[in-house]
Amino acid sequence: MADKSYAVIGLGRFGASVAQALYNMGYDVMVIDEDEERVQDHVGIATHAVQADTTDEQALRDVGIRNFDVVVVAIGADIQASILTTLILKEMGVKMIVAKAQNERHGQVLYKVGADRVVFPERDMGLRVAHNLISPNVLDFVELAADYSIAEVAVSEKTAGKTLIDLDVRARFGVNVMAIKSGDHFNIAPSADDLIKEGDILVVIGHNNDLKKFEEES
Ligand code: ATP
Repeated sequence: MADKSYAVIGLGRFGASVAQALYNMGYDVMVIDEDEERVQDHVGIATHAVQADTTDEQALRDVGIRNFDVVVVAIGADIQASILTTLILKEMGVKMIVAKAQNERHGQVLYKVGADRVVFPERDMGLRVAHNLISPNVLDFVELAADYSIAEVAVSEKTAGKTLIDLDVRARFGVNVMAIKSGDHFNIAPSADDLIKEGDILVVIGHNNDLKKFEEES
């Protein structure tokens, strides 16, 4: 059994998916939901499943929430409950709070009340799908800041057999190839004359406009 322990509050699709993935990886996971039926439906994906209203500090104390290394607040629709829960967890001294936001404003408030990390699953997935639609070669897309991102781009027929010098992506597109994934091998400091093979994946960083050009033309 791995050492870190996790608690996931809110058993919607997102919370249940996070809890199940952690549990499958061998971690100790407690799931909490105020809805007893939801709790019963998810007993199989966690070490413990408990019914509690997490806007009630005493209820959180009773389940021993402070004993967990990371607490994920996956309450969605009820924004007030999500904010209040995060605030109480912070005040109780929970070390690491990860909270799911419905939108940017919700995210800002979550940071203000003490979330250590805020995730936007719908926004991020939408972004990924959109980039994958522009170019099926784009496997993943992660926003770093408002205008800068990292994209994972599958090597096309056009690119295979070339080196980074041949591609000259920095001059042509203004982006940088940070790494080349080749099966299980991860070349994290590719040199200019490394050969790019079919099946490889390029990890590219740059301004969104430049990445878009690269995605369309690579
Ligand atoms: P998803 O999109 O991931 O399916 P969602 O954003 O629709 O989720 P909800 O279904 O609104 O999320 O909420 C997730 C869960 O959070 C629900 O099962 C709900 O019962 C639970 N929940 C809401 N408020 C509280 C609370 N105060 N205490 C504990 N659980 C709560």
